[in-house]
Amino acid sequence: MTKSEVYFQKYCRRAGLKRSGQRDKVFNMFLKTEQHISAFRLFEKIRKQGEKIGYSTVYRTLRLLVKAGLAQTLTFGGETHFEHKFKHKHHDYFICSKCGKTIEFTSPTIERIQNRLAKKYNFTPQKHTLLIYGLCINCQNKQ
Ligand SMILES: [Zn+2]
Ligand SMILES: [Zn+2]
Repeated sequence: MTKSEVYFQKYCRRAGLKRSGQRDKVFNMFLKTEQHISAFRLFEKIRKQGEKIGYSTVYRTLRLLVKAGLAQTLTFGGETHFEHKFKHKHHDYFICSKCGKTIEFTSPTIERIQNRLAKKYNFTPQKHTLLIYGLCINCQNKQ
C-alpha cells in the first residue's frame, strides 16, 4: 500500500466508514490517473474494466477524497474535475474553449507576482488555479 492509501484507510476508519471494496477500486483508479478527471470519466474507466459500480459511489468517493485532503476540485467547461493533491506540484492551465484540451504549465515568475500582489492587498492566499481560455494548436489550424 502506498502512503496515500494508508492515509485514506485511516481517514475512513476515523470517519466511521466501513471498508468497501468499491471505494478502494475508485481510489486506486483515481491514483492511477495522471491528470484531472471528471467523476463521470472515472466512472466510465472503472466500468470499462468490467466492474459493476454505480456513478454515485464514484462521486461520493471523490468527494470523500476531497474532504480527506487527497484530492482537489477544479471547475471548468461547466464540469467539476478532480485531481491529486498529494505529490503533485502546483500548476496552472491553458484550456481550449473549443475541444476542451488542457495544458498544464507552471511559471515561477507568475507565482511570485501573485504572492507580491497578495501582500500588497493584505491577503493571505491559500490556493489558486489560473485558467487561461483560448484555442489549442489543433483548433487554431481548423479555423
Ligand atoms: Zn499558479
Ligand atoms: Zn482545441
